Amino acid sequence: MEKTFIMVKPDGVQRSLIGEIVTRFEKKGFQLVGAKLMQISTELAGNHYAEHKDKPFFGELVDFITSGPVFAMVWQGENAVEVARQMLGKTNPKDALPGTIRGDFGLVVEKNVIHGSDAVESAKREIALFFGEEELVHYGKLIEDWVY
Ligand code: UDP
Repeated sequence: MEKTFIMVKPDGVQRSLIGEIVTRFEKKGFQLVGAKLMQISTELAGNHYAEHKDKPFFGELVDFITSGPVFAMVWQGENAVEVARQMLGKTNPKDALPGTIRGDFGLVVEKNVIHGSDAVESAKREIALFFGEEELVHYGKLIEDWVY
């Protein structure tokens, strides 16, 4: 089953949005297979956002993502990567539709509340960056017969 990496960013943690965001993914039918509150190091931030290292906003992005704790999660389910991106909404909250997480809780691109992997390959890379295999829990849930 497909997995995606989702992270409540420091602004989302400070604004007490962890519960709201976890609830949305649970209600959608996804299964939580890993989660932790953590402080990202500058090194991990640089690796995670390596594709943006030449962008003008890279320095501020690293400063922001390391400015306070984040809540890192792995969610599993059919088409988890694509569906989660829809749930997040557009990168810039001003373009994100109401009903999406960024559309409902954000105003500016620099503080857009949440990260979600943009492709299956990046999900694999990001999950491996943030979680050890032993931190991911695989289990069955009876409710799956009612989701699928
Ligand atoms: N970002 C920013 N300024 C910009 C564009 C992006 O601060 O002009 C930040 C924003 O937090 C975004 C992250 O960089 O979530 C990664 O950008 P990307 O284009 O990969 O968007 P995402 O995949 O997060 O939607």
